[in-house]
Amino acid sequence: AAWITDFVTATEGGRPVPRARGPHAERFGGQLVLVTGAGSGIGRATALAFAAAGARVVAVDRDAGSAAHTAELSRSAGAPQAWAETVDVSDERAMEQLAAKVAAEYGVVDVLVNNAGIGVSGPFLDTGVDDWRKVLDVNLWGVIHGCRLFGKQMAERGQGGHIVNTASAAAYLPSKALPAYSTSKAAVLMLSECLRAELAGRGIGVSAICPGFVNTNITSTARFTGVDAAEEERRRKRSARLYGLRNYPPEKVAAAVLRAVVRNQAVVPVTAEARGGRLLSRLAPGA
Ligand code: NAD
Repeated sequence: AAWITDFVTATEGGRPVPRARGPHAERFGGQLVLVTGAGSGIGRATALAFAAAGARVVAVDRDAGSAAHTAELSRSAGAPQAWAETVDVSDERAMEQLAAKVAAEYGVVDVLVNNAGIGVSGPFLDTGVDDWRKVLDVNLWGVIHGCRLFGKQMAERGQGGHIVNTASAAAYLPSKALPAYSTSKAAVLMLSECLRAELAGRGIGVSAICPGFVNTNITSTARFTGVDAAEEERRRKRSARLYGLRNYPPEKVAAAVLRAVVRNQAVVPVTAEARGGRLLSRLAPGA
């Protein structure tokens, strides 16, 4: 009976945990949700939103400490179980090992959120090959690895599932400030649409989330190409200030992720500039 499941969940591991209280608890209670880039920003907020809905959470990040902290926060938020995995999503072998470990130890993932990403900012002609490789390796290849490996497991299990890829409004709003980043996100958007068409018949949904400016740490790690170190630091600070001024909280993006799964939405613009078109080009740092 339902109350038994509730009771078992609420006393998991011998200590009481808060009952799933978030929106969509009925949909996600007990489901296995894997989020990449879960150590910070949108990824952490997304992991916690699923946790509050009673999901079991796998928090994946290349930074071990922040992944572990998200797993801890997920348990406090209501996840009956939460694990941290330290993986660089651009590393094919490491992703294969992750997929094998998750399937063997935690089960087949019900919801996969390919969210890990990095920023590279600067005009096309100033962007070196190394920066192009780095941003495509993480933002595009990371998503490809996730979709291939976990998508295959979902399809083989035959019980449906959902894949959410964090693209960006930059995927469809051209900006001279972000050619490499925008190209990586445009590819993620198209990949998501193609995969959505392919998997629809198997009950697996695919969504692409497209936020505009969201106040996270992405600005502190972004590369600004074609300028010296001092100018790069100035731009980083300026862009952090700009993101801060926009002050759109990652929790609202997380809510949009859960809604996208529940409603099986294809492309989900989040924030006014993502919905409103041309604004992004004017706001992008370094534009
Ligand atoms: P963030 O920097 O706060 O978080 C990104 C997390 O991903 C960090 O914990 C980082 O350690 C992790 N990460 C980076 N590279 C990784 C790798 N190779 N393997 C595993 N983990 C890795 O940034 P955020 O803003 O929360 O970004 C999350 C996603 O949202 C990214 O894909 C980003 O491009 C996208 N996005 C962000 C914004 C924004 O304005 N913040 C807008 C649109 C899209």
